[in-house]
Amino acid sequence: MKDADYFMTESLKVWFLASEVAPFAKTGGLADVAGSLPAYLKSLGVDVRVGLPFYRMAKDRDLKAQKVLEGLEVPLGNTRLRGDVLETSTREGVPVYLFDREDLFDRPNLYGTPEGDYYDNLERFTYFCRAALLFASKVGFQFDLVHCHDWQTGLIPAYVKTLYRANPFFSNVASVFTIHNIGYQGLFPPDRLRICGLPGAEYNPEGLEYWGKISFLKAGIVYADAITTVSPRYSQEIQTPEYGMGMDGILRKRSADLYGILNGADYTSWNPAMDRHITNHYSLGNMRGKRKCKADLVKELGLHERFVDRPVLGMVSRLAPQKGSDLLAQIVEDIVGLDAGLVILGAGEEAYQALFLELGRKYPESVAVTIGFDEGLAHRIMAGVDMLLVPSHYEPCGLTQIYALKYGTVPIVRATGGLDDTINPFDPGSGEGTGFKFSDYQAKAFLDQIREALKVFEDRPGWMKLVENGMQADFSWEKSAREYVSLYEKVKEEA
Ligand code: ADP
Repeated sequence: MKDADYFMTESLKVWFLASEVAPFAKTGGLADVAGSLPAYLKSLGVDVRVGLPFYRMAKDRDLKAQKVLEGLEVPLGNTRLRGDVLETSTREGVPVYLFDREDLFDRPNLYGTPEGDYYDNLERFTYFCRAALLFASKVGFQFDLVHCHDWQTGLIPAYVKTLYRANPFFSNVASVFTIHNIGYQGLFPPDRLRICGLPGAEYNPEGLEYWGKISFLKAGIVYADAITTVSPRYSQEIQTPEYGMGMDGILRKRSADLYGILNGADYTSWNPAMDRHITNHYSLGNMRGKRKCKADLVKELGLHERFVDRPVLGMVSRLAPQKGSDLLAQIVEDIVGLDAGLVILGAGEEAYQALFLELGRKYPESVAVTIGFDEGLAHRIMAGVDMLLVPSHYEPCGLTQIYALKYGTVPIVRATGGLDDTINPFDPGSGEGTGFKFSDYQAKAFLDQIREALKVFEDRPGWMKLVENGMQADFSWEKSAREYVSLYEKVKEEA
């Protein structure tokens, strides 16, 4: 075990807890954020430490991790589970703690299978929340503030405000809760509250009850000192019935403590000039590599070779209704009719997986579908296609469109949430703008923008201007990391 000095420094101490952190474990954008923001916080002087469950995905990475605590006792309902805690670090030297409990986390996936969630997610994430807090108190990491993310960590602000309030270790601790996606609410039957160990009195509509169920997400929203979400536009949207998914009322009540802070991009991982997943690097001013990346991709995925010179569209996404998978499915045949290539990488709901695989089989020359999670292929698609499709029904921030810009890949997005905040429509007249946007959630509106994009694609100088605008856009973390630090300081002062 480390000696106590290791956990005691002068700077602001933040316990940063998330259910996925790249590169250790990832299903989506949350992992990218939790994997990159802490390094920027560190560079601004914050003593930040990151915690996540020790999933099989992380174990398979053969990390150099050291056991720092053995047999941590974590109450769960009437029992106490014992688990170990290991320490490793990010590339930039941020300490990372992995909460090991084989029966809960050593599984093929993080949250469930294509058929549905794991049956014991309440136990799994209750364990993680309590273990993270108890670990800190056991090793003397007297953090000022816990920054937690999404429903899996939603109980943490509730524990800090209720169950552990009288414990001197936690009595001055503040909490920030970030909503990365309001569609995932961590809903469970109320009789399972006793497993969480929270006082029964907290189960009411002003507390963690959500229409007859416990909601971990709501717990985060209600008990945290401040709530953030990942784009300014989404922070407004989630306060409306249309996008609030039943949480809009409670969010409106807390609107004085709700902030929209745009996610940043990690340009050390997502940068065509140094991407370790592509062989032909390129940058603005030397774009030959992009053409080679495209030719490689066309070959790798077995598209007809004419697509090296024809426009190729791509999508890298979880396959879920949120992502507009249904809109894309409706227009695949039109895209084939326009003689554009289409590349899809995705994993998610069984029905969408089957639908896209079927379309890929029907049009093998023009449509390449890969089902699964493949980090390397995601990067090669970003570099190799001409346009990236992001027709989301709603999108808290969205990272793929931001990465696409850096790769000279033009995003075609629906004007919602972070997509609306980050992409400006291209105006061929003035030469300004970075992509194409449509508003109505309609297949026709989406297809119209694809047609617009294909038109500009044929006008080489116009297209190059558009590509250049995107590659010059800067969505690095510096500004947003500063906004988080200001918020931490404010919240800590008021706690
Ligand atoms: P979300 O978090 O809602 O899934 P984001 O756009 O914020 O959406 O982030 C998605 C992240 O997950 C990106 O890094 C993207 O490249 C990655 N990703 C999504 N699906 C896959 C996949 N099937 N294989 C590899 N990476 C994927």
